[in-house]
Amino acid sequence: MDGPLNSGLDIGMLGGGLAGLALASLLAGRGHRVTIYERDRAGGKLRRERVGGLAFDTGPSLFTFPGVWQAFLRRLGEADPLALQPLPGGLGIHHTPFGAVPLPVPPGHPLSAAWEGYRAKVGPLAPHIVPLLTTPPRLTDPVFLRASRALFRVVGPHPTAEGWIRAQKLPPALAHAIRTHALNAGLSPADAPALYALIPALVGAEVYRPVAGMGALLDTLIEYATARGVQLREGAEVTGLKGATLTLNGGEVAQYDLLVSALDPHRLATLRGSPIVSLRSKRTVSGVAIYAALPEAAPLPATSVIPPSDFQTFRAAIRAGALPPDTLALVHADGRKLAVLLTAPATACPLGLDHPWVRAQVARVERTLGMPGRLASADDVLALTPAHYAAGGHPGGAIYGAALPFWRGGPLHPQPHRLTTRLWQVGTGVHPGGGIPAILGGAMMVDTLLAEAQKKALPVKGGPG
Ligand SMILES: Cc1cc2nc3c(=O)[nH]c(=O)nc-3n(C[C@H](O)[C@H](O)[C@H](O)COP(=O)(O)OP(=O)(O)OC[C@H]3O[C@@H](n4cnc5c(N)ncnc54)[C@H](O)[C@@H]3O)c2cc1C
Repeated sequence: MDGPLNSGLDIGMLGGGLAGLALASLLAGRGHRVTIYERDRAGGKLRRERVGGLAFDTGPSLFTFPGVWQAFLRRLGEADPLALQPLPGGLGIHHTPFGAVPLPVPPGHPLSAAWEGYRAKVGPLAPHIVPLLTTPPRLTDPVFLRASRALFRVVGPHPTAEGWIRAQKLPPALAHAIRTHALNAGLSPADAPALYALIPALVGAEVYRPVAGMGALLDTLIEYATARGVQLREGAEVTGLKGATLTLNGGEVAQYDLLVSALDPHRLATLRGSPIVSLRSKRTVSGVAIYAALPEAAPLPATSVIPPSDFQTFRAAIRAGALPPDTLALVHADGRKLAVLLTAPATACPLGLDHPWVRAQVARVERTLGMPGRLASADDVLALTPAHYAAGGHPGGAIYGAALPFWRGGPLHPQPHRLTTRLWQVGTGVHPGGGIPAILGGAMMVDTLLAEAQKKALPVKGGPG
């Protein structure tokens, strides 16, 4: 890098989703001047919507690996304002073709011995999961080395989630329920790294939600950013990028010492004039998220999971960009609020409530949960489709962006944090399996790497990109 050591850089952040907001706070906390450009409203996939007079927080609904959040707070020097509440029933009831499986499996359940055996195998990895999610993957870092050794010891010679699950010879119902969690990577079990087969054991009953709802996470991140002087410009879409200079809708041009993209990497590539997406490129799944205000509370557990009846058929359809005959559905019930999340291929399809596939999947969910016609009785319904997710993210609406092959997925592979000296990236498309823990952990990694890079030398405004 060129130039003298500055005390603080002018940093332009592209995208005001959770990742952009989290990293902006960390960077501003180090004395940098950060401006966030957000094309829409801050929050990205986490949006506050009103449906039938009720307040819904869209996007993430389960807060897992709270140790990552606590590590993020420690770095900022903040106390935890979220009051995370454990969700009753943990990861929920999984309605497999072999019977219903609650995860975690409670003592006394016919599957509890098999569950305890599975948990015991994964247990040694548990103390390393937060370091794994927050430490840049470098063979020179002893924390990363210890954590990755622990992961390899558990995973053994089975690189994919499917391979690992098969090798455990679990009862079919438990194996089917565990397979579902490969979708945390946005991938079918045969495509997801083995780590994702370990998630139910690592999470156990530690599934949370802020007492004031997920929107409280968004409010908190905005508050941390603005308290540190971050400028948040909503409705400001970046339309072009060259070096560390960006152009906005309306023609405004702004030059920075450094840019950080918290956008989907395909989207960023398009802004840089090099679109890399093709219809054949592999991508993680998208979804249809249905938020319904019911006339009265549905008698359902907090979380129900309806897996595809056959993961091979599901995988073949998703890989071909076709609609799977029966898909993975997650159902969250909270009083009169009901959320039904259907997994769909990332083809930017406007799969609305009237689409025959959506109707068939909703009917399957309602049948499985013993509540036929429940959605039709709703006072009001909002459906967010792959076309919605494509509008602000990956061009096909892939929730976690492009699909990496399993040997590149997961936290072990060095992610493309630094594209050029002056352009870095963070967020869900960069940190595979990019739910909240991966995003916050990824923001911490980029913060660490940028601080190290700054110690060595700094880029200056106008220098080579
Ligand atoms: C239905 C659903 C359920 C989920 N459930 C969970 C869950 O239970 N637990 C969990 O941990 N995670 C969950 N996730 C995943 C989690 O919500 C996302 O991974 C996370 O919110 C992504 O954050 P991000 O900041 O990386 O990306 P995004 O939220 O996509 O943010 C990117 C931002 O960039 C903006 N942008 C795009 N282009 C431009 C441009 N040119 N100029 C300026 N701004 C631009 C967009 O408007 C957007 O605000 C779920 C996601 C979905 C969709």
